Amino acid sequence: MEKSFLIPISRRDLFKLAGLTAAGVALSGAVDSHVEAVEAPKREFNFNGAEIPTLLRADVCVCGGGCAGVAAAVTAARNGLSVVLVEQGVVLGGLQTQGLVYPAMPTRIINSDTPYITDLNKRFAMHGIDVNWLEEPEYKHGGNAREYTPELLAFIYDELCNDYRVEILYNATLIGANTQAGKITAAIVHTVEGLSKIEANIFIDATGDAALSRFAGVPTAHGSEHTGRNQKMSFRFEMGGVEEMQVYKFFVKKLKDNWCEHKPPEFEFAKTTHTEKFYYEGIQRGEVTKDDVAYIQAFTIIGKPGTLSMNCPEMSPFLFSATNALERSKAIREARIMIRRLAHFFRKNIPGFKKSYISREASMLGVRESWRIRGKYYLTGDDYFNAQKFPDAVCCSAYPIDVHDESLDLSRALGKGEFYEIPYRALVTNEFANLLVVGRCISANFAAQASVRIQPTCMSMGEAAGIAAAYGYKNGIAVNQLDWAQIPANMRSYVSAG
Ligand SMILES: Cc1cc2nc3c(=O)[nH]c(=O)nc-3n(C[C@H](O)[C@H](O)[C@H](O)COP(=O)(O)OP(=O)(O)OC[C@H]3O[C@@H](n4cnc5c(N)ncnc54)[C@H](O)[C@@H]3O)c2cc1C
Repeated sequence: MEKSFLIPISRRDLFKLAGLTAAGVALSGAVDSHVEAVEAPKREFNFNGAEIPTLLRADVCVCGGGCAGVAAAVTAARNGLSVVLVEQGVVLGGLQTQGLVYPAMPTRIINSDTPYITDLNKRFAMHGIDVNWLEEPEYKHGGNAREYTPELLAFIYDELCNDYRVEILYNATLIGANTQAGKITAAIVHTVEGLSKIEANIFIDATGDAALSRFAGVPTAHGSEHTGRNQKMSFRFEMGGVEEMQVYKFFVKKLKDNWCEHKPPEFEFAKTTHTEKFYYEGIQRGEVTKDDVAYIQAFTIIGKPGTLSMNCPEMSPFLFSATNALERSKAIREARIMIRRLAHFFRKNIPGFKKSYISREASMLGVRESWRIRGKYYLTGDDYFNAQKFPDAVCCSAYPIDVHDESLDLSRALGKGEFYEIPYRALVTNEFANLLVVGRCISANFAAQASVRIQPTCMSMGEAAGIAAAYGYKNGIAVNQLDWAQIPANMRSYVSAG
């Protein structure tokens, strides 16, 4: 099938609106999670009565260039559709790159890799990084942690988009959606040219925060059903100038910590029962606070010798909510202070950190969970524990329910060899015929989201959405009416094991 053309719109039209901001444009807020689906009302954005010009038109518009969005965009384009990928930053990867989240966690299932992940890993290997470094057979081929070095990943994502002719629109912030008769007709974005529309046949929400879905009027839930609190956020950073072998010796030989079985160059340390006293003494000396060291984890990074990826500090969910704009901003300011205290503490007390420095700070807050859509199927913790299989499954995982909030005792893992699946229906909504939702904001309750949120699973969901978009478009089937199981098996990225 021919790709339809992307149509750049007259710059004169845009010029009229250049410099205008989203101020004064009403956006819909989060909808109570228990609200029943109702037909979404028509929405049409304008600015002070002036029509917003169309900047681009494509078969598919993907909003959000994180790991799920890139997988969706590349797969849709690979399947013959024209695709615009809207990203507010200047790099693809979202939390993987801007958020410095490293490494990708294992699904803990052998051969769970969908084809997109296999291809991505091959690209890494071509650039000299073998992303499957663990030797244990049970971790091989799909169950492995992946070493997606942020800078190389950013480059590879651009390369992938270039290869498949995905039009990336960087520095473009989605601020709203036009809707009509149960369809999204345009994504409203703010760019250097001002406000404009992106029109498409199919929209994919990969914003992590369900922004497109909320703006269009899809019901969402957020936070724990028991406490209302989101998972803890983190603000990650990297430390350079680290002598990794000395760090290894300090934790393993001196503190007798057994957290990590590997020696540098592949090594990690974390706060454990063995090392608790070490951090407690730092609090007693006034070098760090209890919150600073509530959660400590650090990984060596393949391709960046002497640099550690710090999975900390974590921000108290009592003080900072992931669904409150001002609190998200305050969390970043607080985290910068915490990072400096932590860096000083490490330099002073850990041999190997003596000459270290903060080499990079995240350019995106580490939001584990914020808003989640209420789609056609709502995946739950029970589905996880029942190792539920679905005929329309798009991928599978056995990654634990990993809740970062010590006051919520939810963290659990499945038994050996057990796994659950994610149904296609958790990626589509009752309200909009042409909307798919992928990544950490799919239709899942708090517990289920705590497992589905890992990067390989987000990528597999994105890939499935790309396939479904292409299949639906070519066969004239609305994506929310499409039955994934009806797509010929050889065209699907995953076939249910149920
Ligand atoms: C601190 C932390 C540690 C984690 N640790 C691990 C780990 O070790 N391993 C693992 O596998 N997973 C881990 N995760 C989970 C995993 O990294 C994320 O769940 C996953 O990367 C989410 O991918 P995504 O594509 O759904 O969303 P995101 O990565 O959040 O991407 C969303 C993208 O959309 C863009 N965007 C958002 N709103 C707009 C808008 N309005 N307009 C335009 N663009 C927009 C953002 O800039 C971003 O690029 C961690 C998460 C956090 C926060």
